Amino acid sequence: MKVTVHDKTFVPYLSSIEIQDRIAILAKQISQDYEGKQPLFIGILNGSFIFAADLFKQISIPSSISFIKLVSYKGTSSTGTVITSIGLEENLTDKDIIIVEDIVDTGKTLTEFLPSLSKQNPASIKICTLLQKPEALQYPLDVDYVGFSIPNKFVVGYGLDYDGLGRNYSEIFQIGE
Ligand code: 5GP
Repeated sequence: MKVTVHDKTFVPYLSSIEIQDRIAILAKQISQDYEGKQPLFIGILNGSFIFAADLFKQISIPSSISFIKLVSYKGTSSTGTVITSIGLEENLTDKDIIIVEDIVDTGKTLTEFLPSLSKQNPASIKICTLLQKPEALQYPLDVDYVGFSIPNKFVVGYGLDYDGLGRNYSEIFQIGE
């Protein structure tokens, strides 16, 4: 069924069952890859909160989870944007980190944020995203775990918003033509 968020109409794209089935496979893969380790999942707020929770529930090895919020400022730096993280209190030294994102679009956000994590000398950093738009990627970013590769069209639901609304749907909708 179509939904309207603010002024736009969205059509069903990924059902709740499709999402949950894919997450079970991702979680199994991650649990195998990190066997004998104790990874720290870092969810990027706000968009990843539902995905991170559902993924984490299916992880079968000892793991911890934390969340951060990235804020971008348009401003004085040469790149025009500075990414600041809010809320990461853990010591990352020697930790195996898995970043959990809702969607990788151009790759800009993570490309700019990763150096600040690397500085803290974690043992490893991998990226897990529910969605990726390969056509939109503009920054060289290695994404290790991808739920779904999707076309370059705007989506909402399952944590993803359009101007603040739409996060509460348990399925994912794509913008209508
Ligand atoms: P990037 O820095 O990779 O270009 O963008 C990543 C961020 O852009 C995501 O975390 C998300 O907030 C936003 N974004 C990109 N594409 C979409 C989309 O189709 N729908 C929604 N709701 N957000 C998107």
